[in-house]
Amino acid sequence: MAEETGQLQDSAESTTVVVIGAGPAGMAVATLLRHSGIDCVVLERRSRDHVAQRQRAGIVETRAVRMFDSWGLTDRVLGGVPYDGILEFRVDGRSRLVSDSDGSDGPPARLCPQQVLVQKLTTTYLEDGGDLRFEAADVSLHDLTGDRPTVRYRTADGTPRTITCDFVAGCDGDRGVSRTTVPDGALTTYAFDHGIGWLTVLADAPPPAHPLLAVSREGFAAHFPRGPRSSRYYLQCPPDDDPDAWPDTRVWDALRTRLGDPGLVSGPITDREIFRLRSLVHDPMRYGRLFLVGDAAHIVSPMGGKGMNLALYDADLFARAVRDSVQGDDTALHTYSARCLRRVWNDQEFSHWLTRTLHDAGDAEPFLRNLARARLDRLFTSPAAASAFAELMTGLDPTGDAMAREVPGNLSALGGD
Ligand SMILES: Cc1cc2nc3c(=O)[nH]c(=O)nc-3n(C[C@H](O)[C@H](O)[C@H](O)COP(=O)(O)OP(=O)(O)OC[C@H]3O[C@@H](n4cnc5c(N)ncnc54)[C@H](O)[C@@H]3O)c2cc1C
Repeated sequence: MAEETGQLQDSAESTTVVVIGAGPAGMAVATLLRHSGIDCVVLERRSRDHVAQRQRAGIVETRAVRMFDSWGLTDRVLGGVPYDGILEFRVDGRSRLVSDSDGSDGPPARLCPQQVLVQKLTTTYLEDGGDLRFEAADVSLHDLTGDRPTVRYRTADGTPRTITCDFVAGCDGDRGVSRTTVPDGALTTYAFDHGIGWLTVLADAPPPAHPLLAVSREGFAAHFPRGPRSSRYYLQCPPDDDPDAWPDTRVWDALRTRLGDPGLVSGPITDREIFRLRSLVHDPMRYGRLFLVGDAAHIVSPMGGKGMNLALYDADLFARAVRDSVQGDDTALHTYSARCLRRVWNDQEFSHWLTRTLHDAGDAEPFLRNLARARLDRLFTSPAAASAFAELMTGLDPTGDAMAREVPGNLSALGGD
């Protein structure tokens, strides 16, 4: 009887959108929906502390800052400091500064670490009365092609819960449950392995004057700010290398050599990991009433800093589409996937170009190395090339958005794409 009552209470829970995952994508979707007065429930598998400490990206690009500005949320959701748009390339120890300022008076990019963005979005959402449930276990999605999907999960104490909704936002990253719920064959997956590994190291060490990308015969290296006394470093390595093969002394020696900076100040290393550079796109980013947002739909290799920024782009389009739908217009829901994918492929291309250029310019075979160095030469000497680069770095390039206007309204029923 108690269980029966529990089930009745569960099935009584209802909302407009269930958001799976409380990373940048999920918290951006939830904050924008809440800001629009639309009900949603966020289910996150991990604890609040765990999510709030996950350190990855470091720059919210200009386009994303202006997106938050258009919602009137910049001051509440963005921490960090404005970024002057200057990127340093160091080729065999020789420094070249490239600016990605767009020359307008609009707000610039922000040096805002990912965990700070997630913490601030979470605080804003909760202050606005949002419903966020951490440690939600065994999340499962049902009836995605029906009129009212259902999401089931267990609370931290094991109590089963059920929520019905109009839409599910799958914001649970590459290894989440949302995309894996979609039946085989409904999505096409495009995957690419760059054959490159990066040792990534987080350290309590002084940040560089500007984000720094370095090329040398010893391989690629990078040094990025992650706070007033914190830096993230990258070192190219074989994709199957072992982090234990990189003790502190080897890390700092390699960084000093590849960055061409014998005086580089070291500090305690707080995190060290090796990952493969890979790219992934799932098409379409929707199945019935499930909409994939952020890494659940696409992985971009970190070069160019696009992954988190694409998640914010998707979140913005999805929130606006739900807002329209609540007011009776489903057009933007129908074009959501096509519009997002245009920008995804645009950013994949930029990231792939930059990845190849900076790695081939280092230790690749001579023909490829000379091609890559010619590309860098063009970037450093041609104002047109520098301008195109700046457009892509800021995210202000019109490609994704301008082409999006050409997408014919795909007015198929919500049940299928
Ligand atoms: C080392 C590294 C460096 C990077 N650097 C940059 C950079 O400089 N610039 C940039 O723009 N991007 C960068 N990225 C990419 C960026 O971190 C991701 O694109 C971003 O985290 C995507 O956000 P998301 O919310 O889509 O996914 P995630 O951040 O993966 O969040 C998904 C959330 O869903 C939760 N979840 C998963 N499964 C479930 C489930 N079954 N039920 C409930 N919740 C679930 C997870 O716990 C998590 O909180 C980097 C990535 C890495 C790995």
